[in-house]
Amino acid sequence: MKISHIEHLGIAVKSIEEALPYYENVLGLKCYNIETVEDQKVRTAFLKVGDTKIELLEPTCPESTIAKFIEKKGVGVHHIAYAVEDGVANALAECEEKGIQLIDKAPRKGAEGLNIAFLHPKSTQGVLTELCEC
Ligand code: ZN
Repeated sequence: MKISHIEHLGIAVKSIEEALPYYENVLGLKCYNIETVEDQKVRTAFLKVGDTKIELLEPTCPESTIAKFIEKKGVGVHHIAYAVEDGVANALAECEEKGIQLIDKAPRKGAEGLNIAFLHPKSTQGVLTELCEC
């Protein structure tokens, strides 16, 4: 596969409203979009850092995978998302062929309407990895 850049870093927070002042007032970044992704049970806030984004992830209910993540590991870095140039479906097929455990067998729509898919951290040196169409 061909990765062009880190599309975003996903960071688990308890509350976007409580987390944003750090990113905006201390780091000087600007939040340009907040949206809810219903099927993932998260609210997301996006900030730009060059070509890369910071994606803040706030659980919308206790059953959210983000809520479970915070319960287990606390707030902090949740996943890394790579922008793949030749399509998420192709990248997934390549990963499967190379024995990588997939969370998503096929691309699905993530925040911002992009095609995304997750690889299991068991197969990715402990880092939950997202492949993202750019
Ligand atoms: Zn993400």
